[in-house]
Amino acid sequence: MNVLDGRRFLGLLAREGFVEASSPEEAGLILLNTCSVRDKAEQKVYDRIGRLAKLKRDHPGTVLGVCGCVAQQEGESLLERLPHVDFVLGTGRIEALPSILRRVEEEGDRPCETGFDLDEVVYTPGAIARAVPHRAAITVIEGCNKNCTFCVVPRTRGRERNRRLRDVVNEAHRLIDEGALEIELLGQTVNAFRDPETGADLADLLHAVGALPGLRRLRFVTSHPRNFSRRLVAAMAETPAVVPALHLPVQSGSDAVLRRMKRQYARAEYLDLVAQLRDAIPGLALSTDVIVAFPGETADDFAATLSLLEEVRFAGVFSFTYSPRPQTAALRWEHDITPPEASERLARLEALQQDIQRELNRALEGQTLEVLVEGLDRKRRFSSGRSRCNRVVNIAGESALPPGTLVNVQIERGFPNSLLGRTQEQEREQETDKDSANGYPGDRQTLPDPGAARPLGISSNSF
Ligand code: SAM
Repeated sequence: MNVLDGRRFLGLLAREGFVEASSPEEAGLILLNTCSVRDKAEQKVYDRIGRLAKLKRDHPGTVLGVCGCVAQQEGESLLERLPHVDFVLGTGRIEALPSILRRVEEEGDRPCETGFDLDEVVYTPGAIARAVPHRAAITVIEGCNKNCTFCVVPRTRGRERNRRLRDVVNEAHRLIDEGALEIELLGQTVNAFRDPETGADLADLLHAVGALPGLRRLRFVTSHPRNFSRRLVAAMAETPAVVPALHLPVQSGSDAVLRRMKRQYARAEYLDLVAQLRDAIPGLALSTDVIVAFPGETADDFAATLSLLEEVRFAGVFSFTYSPRPQTAALRWEHDITPPEASERLARLEALQQDIQRELNRALEGQTLEVLVEGLDRKRRFSSGRSRCNRVVNIAGESALPPGTLVNVQIERGFPNSLLGRTQEQEREQETDKDSANGYPGDRQTLPDPGAARPLGISSNSF
């Protein structure tokens, strides 16, 4: 969502005649698009603003704006505390960027625009500078009506506002005409989507977008388990473009913790939903978010989370230690788990999850997966992309496949965070030339995981 907001800024600025600078020193305008979901992310923003103070002294004409969730959360107080910040722009006011810049430049104002239009998503699809043509995200619902006791998002993104189904479908249609093979529908609780006029839900939207000719992959993120209907499970199963991958944050495996988090489901309900999904969608790759060391999490609660991971066997887990956030209910609760204990729990969870991912990915060896090429792998040796189940696949011996190419890759090796394989064409070449130098001859123990940029399976609390 933040990435898409960044592309919206770039698109709006391009309409005003701005072009991207190659460095902050060269820029006439610097925008910080910020995240405040955990304290560490917020502190990074202040570090960055502090470092930009020197740049502003050397280049007094440079305009510095703070945007995104920290802007929404802190508002005017940022301007009071940070004299070198020229304006503050909240997540619900992105479209005001051009008028804010005029106020700064022409009137010498230091504007602060925050808040939300309650009924409508204000969004100009034509003004989004898409990074690549073959993959695009589309916002379908903004904001969040859940009140999870740990989460700052309802405050930084406001209450739910839905787009109209027909506007989303029109946008998808245009993007496919411009070359999109994969579309990702976005929302904080994307499966709470309701067309404000017709009441159509995400199941209807999957059918409608999935029917557009030329679309190869359709995903949606993030789903809340509570809002997952049987209709939605069926729509996923019935729509060929919908990929067999789903992000379904569970947060904890302990009922006591889930209750205190106000997640509105119990462990057994989550597991029942997983069973329904797996019944309907063969090969479904599930990923999730987990918070460890939530206030009051006992050793037994934590053990219940580990056992849930063992039971579900997620293809990927984003795991975080609990971070107290402003104006959340949990902030007031006694936090009795020390940071070293919290880190130790996180490390145990990550180690378990790495073992699970290694096993799951090894089980894919020998299978042929369709891969959408994204670029080069981390070491810039091989072309790399994503399978339909959203796994990172590196293609041995290939380094020149253009981003956006779809290739079938036979998987030779499964690592915890990525797969390694060859295109079927290479396979045939190898059969006729056994001495091919493209090989990966090492043994299983010593071969490094080639990894990739932010694989699905990465576990991290460093966001
Ligand atoms: N809307 C999604 C949902 O509720 O399922 C999640 C949105 S949040 C941007 C992404 C993830 O950050 C959450 O699923 C949660 O695991 C994590 N998170 C949110 N608040 C947190 C906090 N206070 N401390 C640690 N992790 C947090």
